[in-house]
Amino acid sequence: ATPTALLVGTGRGAQLGILIRGPEVLETSRGIDTVILDKTGTLTTGAMKVTALHPGADSDEQELLRLAGALEASSEHPIARAITSSARQTLGSAPGTFPEVTAFRGLSGLGVEGTIEGREVLIGRAHLLQERGIELPPEAHVFVSHAQARGATPVIAAVGGAFLGVIIVADTLKERAGWAVRSLRRLGLETRMVTGDNPGAAGEVARALDIDEVVAEVLPEGKVDEVRRLQEQGRKVAMVGDGINDAAALAQADLGIAMGTGTDVAVDAADITIIRGEPRSIADAIRLSRKTLHVIR
Ligand code: ADP
Ligand code: MG
Repeated sequence: ATPTALLVGTGRGAQLGILIRGPEVLETSRGIDTVILDKTGTLTTGAMKVTALHPGADSDEQELLRLAGALEASSEHPIARAITSSARQTLGSAPGTFPEVTAFRGLSGLGVEGTIEGREVLIGRAHLLQERGIELPPEAHVFVSHAQARGATPVIAAVGGAFLGVIIVADTLKERAGWAVRSLRRLGLETRMVTGDNPGAAGEVARALDIDEVVAEVLPEGKVDEVRRLQEQGRKVAMVGDGINDAAALAQADLGIAMGTGTDVAVDAADITIIRGEPRSIADAIRLSRKTLHVIR
C-alpha cells in the first residue's frame, strides 16, 4: 500500500466528520459484509423523554419522581437523563430536592441501584426486578406490555424490595437513520440491530428502518457474542455503537465504529469515530475506505 493514498483517505474522512484511527483501518473495512447497529443513541437520538408515570397504589407521582430522579442522577444512561430531568421539571431544582444516594451501582444493560433514606432503591427492566424477587402488580404488567407494543421503553422502580411504580420513556429515530440503513444495503451490506431494549421497542425501530435482523434484550456481553457468532460463520463484521455498553463489541468487531456523541470509552475502542453521530456517515466511512483502496491498486 502506498501511504500517500491512505492519508488522502483519512484526510477526506476528517472533512466528512469521520475520524479514522489509522491507515490499516481502511484495509480492514474493505472486506466488511455485515453491519451490526446498536439502537439507543446510534439509530435513535438517545434524547429520551418520560411520557407516562404509573405510581403503585402505595405511592404517588411525586414520590416516584423523587426517588427515581435521585437515583438516576448518578447514571449517564439516556433513560436516566430523561427521568432526572422530568423529576427536576416537576419537583424543581432547588438543592435538597433529591435525597442523598449511597452505595450507587450501575447494572450495565439492566438498570441502577442504591440506598436512599436507609432503603434499597432499584430501577430497571422488569426482568431485573423479577430476578430480585420483586413482584409486579397485575396493572404494572399491562403498562409494560402496552408501552412495548408502542415501541416505548418501560422501566420499573422498587423501594425496600417492593414495587414503587412504572416509568415509561420514549426515544425518537434520528432523522437520517432510514437513509443510513438504505445506503448500507446499497453497498451490499447486511444490516442487523442489537439492543438491550425490549423486543417490542426494538421491533418497532427495525420495521421503521427496514433492518434485516434484530436481536433484543441482550446484555453488553450478548452484543459481543453476536459479533463473534457472525464472525464464526465467516462474516466480516462492522459494529456501530455509542455507549459504554458497546465498547467490548466494538473491540471484538472486525471494524468498530463509534457514534461520536457517546462516551470516551466507546471512542477508545473504535477504529472509526463518527464525530457528530450522523448515521449517514456510517456508509460514507465504508464507501470512503473502499474508494481509497481502489486508488492504491
Ligand atoms: P441499548 O442496547 O439499546 O443501548 P442498554 O443496553 O443501554 O440499551 O439498556 C438496556 C435496558 O436496560 C434498557 O432498555 C433499560 O430497560 C435498562 N436500563 C439500562 N440502564 C438503565 C438506567 N440507568 N435506568 C433504568 N433502566 C436502565
Ligand atoms: Mg446504546
